[in-house]
Amino acid sequence: MLIIGPCQSYQSIKLLGSGSFGHVFLVKELNTKQEYACKIISKVHIEKYDASSMIYNEIKIHTSCNHKNIVRLYSYWEDNKNIYILLEYLSKGHLIDPKTPFNDDDVFQVFHQILEGVNYLHQNNIIHRDLKFENILIHEDGTLKLCDFGWAIKVDQLPVPNVMCGTTEYMPPEVVSKSCLDFKLDSWSLGVILFVLLYGKFPFLGENQDQLIRNILFDQLIIPRRNDINEDLTNLIQALLIKNSQLRPSIEQVYLCKWMKFNMKLHNIFNHYENEQLKQKVKQKNISLKVVNNSLFSTPNKKMVSSHYVESKNDEDNNPTAFGKTHNSCRTIKSVSTNPSPQIPQMEKFFNFIENMKKQW
Ligand code: ATP
Ligand code: MG
Repeated sequence: MLIIGPCQSYQSIKLLGSGSFGHVFLVKELNTKQEYACKIISKVHIEKYDASSMIYNEIKIHTSCNHKNIVRLYSYWEDNKNIYILLEYLSKGHLIDPKTPFNDDDVFQVFHQILEGVNYLHQNNIIHRDLKFENILIHEDGTLKLCDFGWAIKVDQLPVPNVMCGTTEYMPPEVVSKSCLDFKLDSWSLGVILFVLLYGKFPFLGENQDQLIRNILFDQLIIPRRNDINEDLTNLIQALLIKNSQLRPSIEQVYLCKWMKFNMKLHNIFNHYENEQLKQKVKQKNISLKVVNNSLFSTPNKKMVSSHYVESKNDEDNNPTAFGKTHNSCRTIKSVSTNPSPQIPQMEKFFNFIENMKKQW
């Protein structure tokens, strides 16, 4: 099939996938031989389901995104039969349920990339609303990228009125119960993705749609025992799958959980939120800075050059924690406050939130 675009023409090579509205083809631009993915949505279909505003919303939101963990949308056009969306081609297809459940490190390698994409969206007031394996594509170099903005919504005002959006297995209680929505909807879907990566099955199952919805609403989450998995990771899954969205962590709070902080440090990935949290602590606790010799501390990753370390009476803070890699010398930040830290309830202690975030929990 030959696809005629506004400036270039494309030869379709093969079908990559089909979704509820259209088909996605691998195409080759005739002059440059550059490969793309082209999503073709039939106008008959759009009319039948009265979906034109949904498709234009998808295009508008997707066009506005520019991030390494989001599939690039290059252009779009239409003729009297179809709408065409020209996308970056990801040759390794979409993420699939692991044949053998992932270990802690495999999970981090996948999860942190998805989180980066979702964080970018939330920072830009976009809720994806359909995070699932099929909408996470794999680039040739292994980079994971989010696609399919069919359910995405740009938030002007919270909460967002509900429509049953997304895919039931990944839907949080507030979606299946048709309550109002906010960004925490995506946090739940991330919890489902983590659960599947670790245990090879969905956290809530049902023999039919109604039963699945009932289980999402009322069933207790059961985390199977795996001795090889870090407890901090299972705590994160448990938090992401909290039924009450108000108590569920935001993306920022996920970056501040122990498991993420530890693994980002281990893999030498800059954690912007942890850095911000440290700055807040410095401000709030009247902490003074002192530059010390780098060799006084050992870090899990020897390649890492750290700029900041925290030293305080708090157990968690006593682990030297790296926050950046901009300087060759590192600093000790010593608390001069004599106030004992208040008793922190279990979940809050785990997430180690800064003072103002504790209020939300
Ligand atoms: P649904 O609404 O059912 O999730 P959809 O009609 O919105 O689907 P997409 O999710 O965008 O369609 O794409 C369907 C499938 O096509 C994907 O799961 C993936 O396998 C494949 N696909 C989509 N975009 C690309 C791409 N850029 N590169 C490679 N494959 C792709
Ligand atoms: Mg899809």
